[in-house]
Amino acid sequence: MKVIVQKFGGTSVSSKERRALVIEKVLSAIKDGFSPVVVVSAMGRKGDPYATDTLLSLIDIDFKNHNLQASDLLMGCGEIISTVIMSNDLNKKSIDAVPLLGGQAGIITDNEFNNASVLRVDANNLIKILKSGKIPVVAGFQGLSEDGFLTTLGRGGSDVTASLLGSALNAERVEIYTDVDGIMTADPRVVKDAALIEEISYTEVFQFADQGAKVIHPRAVEIAARANIPLVVKNTLNNCVGTLINNIGNTNNTNVIDGITQIDNRTQIKFSTKVNKDNINYPDILDILAENNISIDLINVFPEENIFTIDKKDFKKFDAISKSLNLNYTYEEDCSKISLIGSRMAGKPGVMAKIIKILRNEKINVLQTADSHETIWCLVKTNLASSAINALHSELCSCK
Ligand code: ADP
Ligand code: MG
Repeated sequence: MKVIVQKFGGTSVSSKERRALVIEKVLSAIKDGFSPVVVVSAMGRKGDPYATDTLLSLIDIDFKNHNLQASDLLMGCGEIISTVIMSNDLNKKSIDAVPLLGGQAGIITDNEFNNASVLRVDANNLIKILKSGKIPVVAGFQGLSEDGFLTTLGRGGSDVTASLLGSALNAERVEIYTDVDGIMTADPRVVKDAALIEEISYTEVFQFADQGAKVIHPRAVEIAARANIPLVVKNTLNNCVGTLINNIGNTNNTNVIDGITQIDNRTQIKFSTKVNKDNINYPDILDILAENNISIDLINVFPEENIFTIDKKDFKKFDAISKSLNLNYTYEEDCSKISLIGSRMAGKPGVMAKIIKILRNEKINVLQTADSHETIWCLVKTNLASSAINALHSELCSCK
């Protein structure tokens, strides 16, 4: 039995017409001799009646925050509705489909509601269904805790479901179907002429996903990489080849930068390193932030001043901590962290200088930079991020 996992995102299952295209992809896999396992997300995006955010808007935010188990149950409904409707449409085309909850597909998690970790996947039920010649249609984004509660795997979690099942079933490949042609050199909503990346390695695409390209969940990449199962990102709406993600990537690519991503809602914090009245020095403050679950990045340490960024949602907590420690700080809100990703930039001189020059020519003020061997980060104000990315993209990524 050659198993293939096909995951369809929210926009792919949002209407009857779109679901007809999904059925074509499933039929084509069957025709090619595969036994498909279908994974679905909730139908549509915010505003659509059964989309995750629409369902969440039915309960009060306070109730949600204090009843994570209840909010998981509500969020899980989106995928449950989707799996039954998709099965209905498949059955109408004489495909014997079996709708399943994440737990019935064997995904067992801890009970960290809203962001559960997977403890194990028991694929026996799926194997039985596949062996009987039927097509399992699994509700993505959800699992079952050991004590029987429905849990969710974090936003974008249907991608994680697909990789988990692919890994448990030792699938030939995992296909992630969405509303764009594959992994592009930038978000096509930001850069109109972003190009398709046809082959890319797990490591590079992980970096893309981790640094804001929401086209695939970073954990889905990690899980597929560990099992060495090829991932393919494709467009439900056409027959474009898509992006193949594997260990090798594209060895012919000579571009220094593969692509550009952004993370919004960053707040830059600057404070003096002079010891405050409680003798709390810089490393202690970092410890205190970590203890309070505030993650920081772009950390620059200078003799007199330290700079880092935090997510906007943590700012109130940060401010309260600073006040209690008597820390003086200044801040810049509404910043975006732009990441330029490329495995060939390691040891190549002048890349950062070129980036700064491009941004200077566009009169874009760079608030901070950092680099690792395959990523360069620039912090800019969010209202300038789109022009910054377009300028960088046309100079550095357009020779594909
Ligand atoms: P789905 O509902 O199918 O999971 P998502 O909205 O999660 O779809 O992901 C697809 C979206 O990711 C695209 O519509 C696109 O705007 C966005 N995106 C961001 N960065 C990239 C990128 N580098 N390549 C392709 N798409 C990207
Ligand atoms: Mg997604």
